[in-house]
Amino acid sequence: MNDIIVGIDLGTTNSAIGVVDSGFPMLLADDGGKRIMPSAVWYGPSGEIEVGHKALRRRPIEGSRVITSVKRLMGRELSVEESESLGGKTAEQVSADILRELKRRAEWRLGKALTKAVITVPAYFHDGQRNATKRAGELAGWEVVRILNEPTAAALSYGLDQLGERSRVAVYDLGGGTFDLSILEMQDGVFQVLSTHGDTQLGGDDLDRVLAEKMIGLAGLEAASVGHDAWIRWRVEAERVKCALSERALETFAMPFFDGVNSFSREVTRVEFSEWIQPWVARTLSCCRRALSDARLESNEIDALVLVGGSSRIPVVRTAVESLFGRVADLSQHPDEAIALGATIQAGVISGAMKHLVLLDVTPLSLGIETLGGLMNVLIPRNTTIPCKAGELFTNAVHEQKAMRVRVLQGEREMARDNWELGIVDIPFKPAAKGQARIGVQLHIDENGILEVLARDVKTGIDQILTIRSSAVDVSDESVEKMVGDSVEHAFSDMAERIFTEAKLKAEELLPAVEQALELGRQWLSAKEIKTIETARAEVCQALLEKEPNSLKAAVQRLDTATEALAAKIVQQAMDEALDRQLSL
Ligand code: AMP
Repeated sequence: MNDIIVGIDLGTTNSAIGVVDSGFPMLLADDGGKRIMPSAVWYGPSGEIEVGHKALRRRPIEGSRVITSVKRLMGRELSVEESESLGGKTAEQVSADILRELKRRAEWRLGKALTKAVITVPAYFHDGQRNATKRAGELAGWEVVRILNEPTAAALSYGLDQLGERSRVAVYDLGGGTFDLSILEMQDGVFQVLSTHGDTQLGGDDLDRVLAEKMIGLAGLEAASVGHDAWIRWRVEAERVKCALSERALETFAMPFFDGVNSFSREVTRVEFSEWIQPWVARTLSCCRRALSDARLESNEIDALVLVGGSSRIPVVRTAVESLFGRVADLSQHPDEAIALGATIQAGVISGAMKHLVLLDVTPLSLGIETLGGLMNVLIPRNTTIPCKAGELFTNAVHEQKAMRVRVLQGEREMARDNWELGIVDIPFKPAAKGQARIGVQLHIDENGILEVLARDVKTGIDQILTIRSSAVDVSDESVEKMVGDSVEHAFSDMAERIFTEAKLKAEELLPAVEQALELGRQWLSAKEIKTIETARAEVCQALLEKEPNSLKAAVQRLDTATEALAAKIVQQAMDEALDRQLSL
């Protein structure tokens, strides 16, 4: 059994940890049942440490002892003010305390020691920030097996890795303190970040501040004159109202005894709130446009839109992003759990715990075309993940041949006639000497199972395209079983026939060539050499008559070897003659 690997979202505002259990990724809750842990650490006067909700609860009274949003400081040179805000700790140490708490939680949930983790970082994190994150993990006792991009994790949690090659995903992540938009493209089965744009100073906290300031104004106060601890209370209420307005059209903002004497209360509508935050929403949209233009894409070239981060729950945010991309967002995952879930899936894939969960659409039977001698030439083997593409170059077998017929076949049998015919394309080409024409045949199955056959005369560039709807993938289970069963049952005779056919084709090519070679080069050979060639040739003819595959194959091989030296000599002679001709000109 491989070691368990956990997935961790180490977020600016919140963090979470998950593990694949019995093939399912799941996030681990704390003893209060909460899966999301605030990325907040309280450092007590005597060296005590509290992390998460417990730390956050101390904020209204001991605000200066509670460190939040430490992620913004990771891997950076800090200003004096920033250093002071960390109270003598480094950003890595504070992050390590968060990661240590997650470790403790997971070990307690699973009842065993855990050591390996995948940790996510924003796509825009540079090497220094990634290394700092890794070191924070190590300080907390983790072996960090991978640093994963957050948008990639988000896409994994939505199962978007199944979209297929070249698919593009836009991940819009609006969290508590940061915003970013990343455009990913699936390349060779993994997501590559095409572009990412964001604002590390833009998030839900700004929206809380906007609302708190509005309310403070309506209460007849100056925002600047509100003390630090009182300000935190206004902010906390603003956040509550903001979140409530994602569910309801109306919510009461209430600040009882905000200055010890007076109370304030005001109904806030979703429409009002949407208007107040409009400038912030607009800023996120301009980042989206920049990311699209960096990736040289139009908004309609995106195949999926994913919204993550708690603030993407705000209705006006969602509608604005959807209208920019002209498509509805996939909302099937919790926006604040998607990254942790994706990290967990990635961890499960690395440890092997997720192997069997990934269900891929595959070709039920092999696809190929008929080649000379009635053989099946498989281009796409059965069980290939779709979408897929494969091709081969063919030539004409007959001198002055004017066209080639491509029969597209499906099945597991060696001989074309035993497979099912899906379609035929006739490709005309310029009559050419045997072996001179070049015809490329390519089979392409798209994500919907539609098979397209492209046949191209390489010399003229003329294409023939045949589209075969679904039949390449939509095959009943019984017929697949029968086809595979037949191929097993006939494996021996099928293989013998293929060997014989291939050897026969080779013999038919070789015999006239040997004839010609002997005529040309008899004078260079000893009597013994001539004898060897004659014997080998007789054996080939004999084996052809007897229709015995293996002896034909062996005889063809012997004849080929016996004439090797002669063939080389003839080629050499022809070259010398050509050279002589050139020199005498
Ligand atoms: P994250 O950093 O992704 O955990 O997001 C945290 C941010 O999402 C905080 O600013 C939260 O106030 C905000 N948030 C969480 N839930 C909601 C909600 N239902 N409506 C609006 N904002 C929310």
